[in-house]
Amino acid sequence: MNTAIVIEETVHYPIPVETNFDEENEFYHDQRLVNLAGDLIDRYPHLFAHLLNEKVAYLWKAKGPKRRDGSKVLGKTSKANSLLQHFGEVKWVVWLAAEACWEYDFTDKEVEATLFHELLHLQYNPDNGETYLAHHDVEAFVEEIKEYGTWKADLDRMKKAMIQLGLFKVA
Ligand SMILES: [Zn+2]
Repeated sequence: MNTAIVIEETVHYPIPVETNFDEENEFYHDQRLVNLAGDLIDRYPHLFAHLLNEKVAYLWKAKGPKRRDGSKVLGKTSKANSLLQHFGEVKWVVWLAAEACWEYDFTDKEVEATLFHELLHLQYNPDNGETYLAHHDVEAFVEEIKEYGTWKADLDRMKKAMIQLGLFKVA
């Protein structure tokens, strides 16, 4: 049996449908997504409190890009373009890919996890008090782990987190 986290909820988060988008606008503003981001910030202040002072746009995008292996990008966090920043509207843009969330049949919890992941890309640097775009904690291939185990610091941190969750057997 798969030992991955089993998410039991089956209720769908109202992921926007195709008709919410048109050729003119591949993005869709849904207040529920903004509220979900607000909930996450409230729930995890140690991770996200700095975002209360940031101008972040939370949007659905009709389609994200496809990777070479055929999998679909679930979301993206990036710095807003200079024009948007100039007008002081938005500094960061977080989008989730509606099509991918439909195709993977995401539950509420999985949509939430996708947003949580994207928010983690916006980290706080206590040295200069600024928010920055962070890379993933772990860069790895499955084959590499099969051959060499959790051989470097980032993989080791991941292993420790999995042990804590009871997802990983200590060899
Ligand atoms: Zn990411």
